[in-house]
Amino acid sequence: MISQEYEFFAPKELAEALAILHRFAGKARPLSGGMTLVPMMTLGVAQPEAIVSLNHIAGLDFIVETPEIIRIGAMTRHRTLETNTLIRRYLPLLSEAASHIGDVQVRHRGTIGGSLSHADPAADYPPIMLVIGARMKIANAAGERWVAARDYFKGLMETDLRPGDLLIEIEAPKLAGRFGTGYQRLHRIEGNFPIVNAAAVIEQGFRSARLALGGIGDRALLVEIEKHLRNGFNDAALDAISDAAYAVAKDAPSDLNGDTEYRRAMARVFAKRAVKLAAAAIPAN
Ligand SMILES: Cc1cc2nc3c(=O)[nH]c(=O)nc-3n(C[C@H](O)[C@H](O)[C@H](O)COP(=O)(O)OP(=O)(O)OC[C@H]3O[C@@H](n4cnc5c(N)ncnc54)[C@H](O)[C@@H]3O)c2cc1C
Repeated sequence: MISQEYEFFAPKELAEALAILHRFAGKARPLSGGMTLVPMMTLGVAQPEAIVSLNHIAGLDFIVETPEIIRIGAMTRHRTLETNTLIRRYLPLLSEAASHIGDVQVRHRGTIGGSLSHADPAADYPPIMLVIGARMKIANAAGERWVAARDYFKGLMETDLRPGDLLIEIEAPKLAGRFGTGYQRLHRIEGNFPIVNAAAVIEQGFRSARLALGGIGDRALLVEIEKHLRNGFNDAALDAISDAAYAVAKDAPSDLNGDTEYRRAMARVFAKRAVKLAAAAIPAN
């Protein structure tokens, strides 16, 4: 039960939503799928004076392509990302990750915008945003700005979003053609958050390579792997990547799912698995 009172707004226009958020000066919360916000309010962890639902605003739920880029509206549900043909073809990591989130009910309500705004350090999307080179479009009553994924995630459930801001769009370059991709997650029960997750993107000829890990710190982190693949993909490269993942995971949290050393060990294993998958998926030519 939510015990405190709050005002509820369901604007139909983005400008109206931004004006309400501005008026409440950080004391209002946007509502997307409600899959995280509602439990937080029930537990009393979030006690906003107002809720601004984004569910009736036209133009926040879309997936479109340009010749180089895929654009995704913040209100796109996980289930849509899981099944959409553009996402499956050009950003397969995203559809793969979406398919693991919660259960089918959660995936039908939860949104990419809500997940990236909440920025749980073990969520499925953050490592993927880092390796696909995504950018976030943020709007407020004063205007709009773009923030690269590597600058967007700041700390424990902390992002570049400030009071009055709304995440409205995510865009990323198309990755089909010359790229192989791999996503791996460790979970005890299907539908649970990952304990550790890893996403990799490798370009043909190892011209570029990116790996990111989640669940190993206060936010998802990139692991420098390109230099290890300069001489191609072999056991020595995999050992070096494993060591790099272990080093990046040095501040991994300890909790009921595993202590720091366990997560660091799993970072080694899942980093290697994601890189192996990505290398095997590089198109022949
Ligand atoms: C049973 C269960 C299992 C789950 N399992 C997983 C899992 O395995 N992996 C995983 O990654 N996630 C998991 N989740 C979380 C799920 O992905 C949520 O959908 C997501 O974290 C929040 O998305 P939402 O659209 O529901 O956001 P909401 O709950 O509506 O909002 C979340 C937070 O973000 C803010 N917010 C929402 N939209 C915006 C916006 N556009 N701009 C700025 N701020 C905004 C809200 O004010 C709130 O603080 C699970 C959730 C549940 C309930």
